[in-house]
Amino acid sequence: MRIAHRYYDCSPRIVRAKKKTTITIKPLFDHRKFHDDISYQIGLIPMLGVPGTTRQTDFQRTPVTPKDNAITVTLDFDAEQEYTLLLEQGDGKVVGEFVLYALNQDLFELRPYKGDTHMHTNYSDGKESPAFVAASCRKIGLDFAAITDHHRYAPSLEAMAAFSDVDIDLRLYPGEEVHPPSNPVHIVNFGGSFSVNDLFKTPQYEEQVAELEKTLTFVPEGPARRIYASCVWSFEKIREAGGLAIFPHPYWVYGYKFDVPEQITDLLFEHQPYDALELIGGFHVWQAESNMLQVARYHEERAKGKTIPIVGATDSHGCEQADLFGWYHTIVFAKSADLNDLIEAIRGLNSVAVEALPNERVRAFGPFRLVCYAQFLLREIFPFHDELCLEEGRLMLNYAAGDKRAAEALSKLKGRVEKLYDKMWGCDS
Ligand SMILES: [Zn+2]
Ligand SMILES: [Zn+2]
Repeated sequence: MRIAHRYYDCSPRIVRAKKKTTITIKPLFDHRKFHDDISYQIGLIPMLGVPGTTRQTDFQRTPVTPKDNAITVTLDFDAEQEYTLLLEQGDGKVVGEFVLYALNQDLFELRPYKGDTHMHTNYSDGKESPAFVAASCRKIGLDFAAITDHHRYAPSLEAMAAFSDVDIDLRLYPGEEVHPPSNPVHIVNFGGSFSVNDLFKTPQYEEQVAELEKTLTFVPEGPARRIYASCVWSFEKIREAGGLAIFPHPYWVYGYKFDVPEQITDLLFEHQPYDALELIGGFHVWQAESNMLQVARYHEERAKGKTIPIVGATDSHGCEQADLFGWYHTIVFAKSADLNDLIEAIRGLNSVAVEALPNERVRAFGPFRLVCYAQFLLREIFPFHDELCLEEGRLMLNYAAGDKRAAEALSKLKGRVEKLYDKMWGCDS
């Protein structure tokens, strides 16, 4: 993030492309006050560049005069891209570098939501309780999350119930990691209104999969067809439950080989019975090859003309003193953080998968247009978002630990991220 954004209030920062927008810059602290006896100028540098211009000095400057210790300027943002707004003194000395992003109408109307669609608690092989995990999610800056324990749906409901009496902004959704019997493919049910794991115990499961198997004649008879049929059945049940059916960690290495045989992975990529691919999965550093393979496979499938909805998820098994938690997430560009809007946006290819390893530069994966925008958000906007979330997450942890006064403090903080975004998007006036 440019330091100027700590010293000045600059807004809006997300603007409409092909439109004029008035930007206001106000110093927040005395050490950056504007001076009446100094002349200032503003230059706007488009990231995409302009043929025939080579250096920042080639860009036009607009003279500006501070009024009541604020500078207001109306600028033309001619295309969807990142812009640097240079505020200089008349002698050319740079006062501040401000970073803005212009968006076409379709993306401008949406908001970015950070979330994790895959994580575990002590009800399966995780370390902490659902309430602890949920509060920790807010602490690290997530807007939505679902607990997805192995074979178990109830922990996700427990996390939701733990905060049902508190006015919080984190959106918690139901979920589970689905393990069809005798099938190496893991499946994530994000948001479904019932448990798919529970259905494996019913007689209908065996009957319906056997029926389905008969129709899947493009798969050679035998174990592959049986496995593929039970995957298709599970994905369909998740959709029936109103959830997003996610295909996680296809290239997880377990016992010296990929846990999912490549023949099955090929079938899943080819016929796409799932809704979204966990493009960046919860792999430890020594397992980085698995994520590299998933990204390579994604690009290869995209090159064949396929469209692939994606998520990034931690598959975390502990929030404290454990790896993975917070290392990966999804940014969904959606109308709201309501479950249906998130699912519709992910299915509609409006998401990127993010890798945020400790002490490394954050990396976003997905469609080029969205990655350009996501990089800006990750660098310039989310640090402010995450600071607000941190305070809320701490209070949520206090509440989960029995401090009921934290509920009152949380309700006072309610809506702060929305307010920040309204300001950043220029919707606050
Ligand atoms: Zn798994
Ligand atoms: Zn898992």
